[in-house]
Amino acid sequence: AVALLALSGCSSRSGDDASGDGASKGFEKGSLIGVALPDKTSENWVLAGDLFKSAIEEAGFKADVQYAGQSTPVPDQQAQISSMTTKGAKVIIIGAKDGGQLGTQVKDAQEAGAKVIAYDRILTDTKNIDYYVAFDNFKVGQLQGQALLDGLKAKFPDKKTYNIELFSGDPGDANAPVFFKGAMDILQPKIDDGTLKVVSGQTDIKQTATKDWLAQNAQNRMDTILQGSYGSAELDGVLSPNDTLARAILTSVKSAGKPAIVVTGQDSEAASIPLIMSGEQYMTIYKDTRKLVKQAIDMATELSKGDKATTTTTTDNGAVKVPTFYLDPIVVTKDNAAEVYKDDDKLAPLTK
Ligand code: BGC
Repeated sequence: AVALLALSGCSSRSGDDASGDGASKGFEKGSLIGVALPDKTSENWVLAGDLFKSAIEEAGFKADVQYAGQSTPVPDQQAQISSMTTKGAKVIIIGAKDGGQLGTQVKDAQEAGAKVIAYDRILTDTKNIDYYVAFDNFKVGQLQGQALLDGLKAKFPDKKTYNIELFSGDPGDANAPVFFKGAMDILQPKIDDGTLKVVSGQTDIKQTATKDWLAQNAQNRMDTILQGSYGSAELDGVLSPNDTLARAILTSVKSAGKPAIVVTGQDSEAASIPLIMSGEQYMTIYKDTRKLVKQAIDMATELSKGDKATTTTTTDNGAVKVPTFYLDPIVVTKDNAAEVYKDDDKLAPLTK
């Protein structure tokens, strides 16, 4: 059959090579690599775009880096990916705005001979995905949940029970439920045994979601909860999935004239580091974007040689087990910030 295939001149690329285990012919230096990123909902996406442009060129390929817009985001990103396919991209790296809405585009891309790599956010319910590269998102959530507990104990040594509220990210982002599940893996037993009380009663991910990861949406929801549920009760802590939303939540708490709380975050955004150092924001997560971008480019380079890309595990995306390379997220509080950021020129000075 192999000989027949070869004789028929059939390309080694096949539509159902969804598991990424098929090494193919590779492609030449100078080929196009497309990168489709979501809207710039946090600093890491801005950084990723800049890094991708330079790193792809340094690796000897041509780069086409696009961001989805915010108003009509899904059609935007669909069109961007289709255009990369039309231009003959050999690899398309996708940070999905909505990971469930790109099935047609990645199928077309693979059929045209491109490899599809999901970046940071998995693409759900499609077989047409070759690889996934990300920081371990479930672990991010667990670290946030554990830090919230630790922070509450440290800030309120006299309390035995704590009032908290829960926030999650945009429902279209496949990472949002994973962060939330990771955090609830730690927090749910403490809710069940009465240590933690979610005073608003809003514990379902539909209730906690923050549309489009927008700060304003988190701030509005916090305002409403404070008005509705914290007339007499005292808010002690908030699970926030990232730094942008943590700052919005802190703004809401401050403008309501409430005492300081313990809040979690993620991304190590420059604007949050001073808040970490002053203790206003209890924690964040460091996911070094330079490492994640490099890993994605390394994958593309391996593929260009006709090799399989190196992976560490697989991720079930609802349709297939996607070969995955996971990097390790790092928890950061004021106690270890200087150490964690010491090799990051942008962040290290902010810990001084
Ligand atoms: C990323 C987070 C980021 C969020 C909002 C997620 O998919 O993993 O790092 O905070 O998107 O941009």
